[in-house]
Amino acid sequence: MSQWVIKGLRTGIKSTRYPNVAETAAGVSPGFPAETNLGGALAESLVAGCPTRALGLGPQGVEVDRRRCVHCFRCIRGAKRPLDWESGYEWARIGADGAHRDHRLGRPFGRSVHILVVDAGDCGACLNEVKQLNNPYYNMHRLGFFLTPTPRHADVMLVVGAVTEHMRHALRKAYDAMPTPKRVVAAGACALCGGVFGPSFICGSGAAEVVPVDVEVPGNPPPPLAILHGLLVAVGRRPPANGAG
Ligand code: SF4
Repeated sequence: MSQWVIKGLRTGIKSTRYPNVAETAAGVSPGFPAETNLGGALAESLVAGCPTRALGLGPQGVEVDRRRCVHCFRCIRGAKRPLDWESGYEWARIGADGAHRDHRLGRPFGRSVHILVVDAGDCGACLNEVKQLNNPYYNMHRLGFFLTPTPRHADVMLVVGAVTEHMRHALRKAYDAMPTPKRVVAAGACALCGGVFGPSFICGSGAAEVVPVDVEVPGNPPPPLAILHGLLVAVGRRPPANGAG
């Protein structure tokens, strides 16, 4: 034990300083394809090559629906004219069900927000990113976020996965069992729209079909800082990427 204390004192604090300081370390985010001023056959081939219909043609060129993007990089690698790319990780947006809500949970929740993670048919990717929030680098406890295994103690529900048919009822029951005030954060393309799986015989078009989603975190999977941003948006401690809330 004393060795760990000495090592800790020697090493110093290595946790990210986000959200007080923007994190610029390499590798914390894969980024996202950006709207690109491009037309003609090149643009059409990029749109046709996107496996999740995340790309479309608009007046400004190629448009990107982040909710659907699965980070396959087909619009970059091997493309004759790659799309522009954006770095960053503050991607969380207010969902349709959270549009008219004051997201501040109030002082009693300032340093103690309990999060129920629901695996609603996750492949393991988003769950793995959620798991990183508990490691010393992201250390979400410093922000007053704690995981809870029971909906009775949860203030925020964090949904990952495509919400398979078998999980629809369980997800709704868990939501109904949470006390108010409560928030729902959906993280990852599958939870937002079904991803590459939905809608199909196995799942629908995301968590919003079953529970009211306040905050949406795109990405496939979203990196830990993007999920952290989503949690901070859900409790009114960071502005969302779309500027509302
Ligand atoms: S990275 Fe893949 S899924 Fe995302 S916009 Fe490009 S082609 Fe589509």
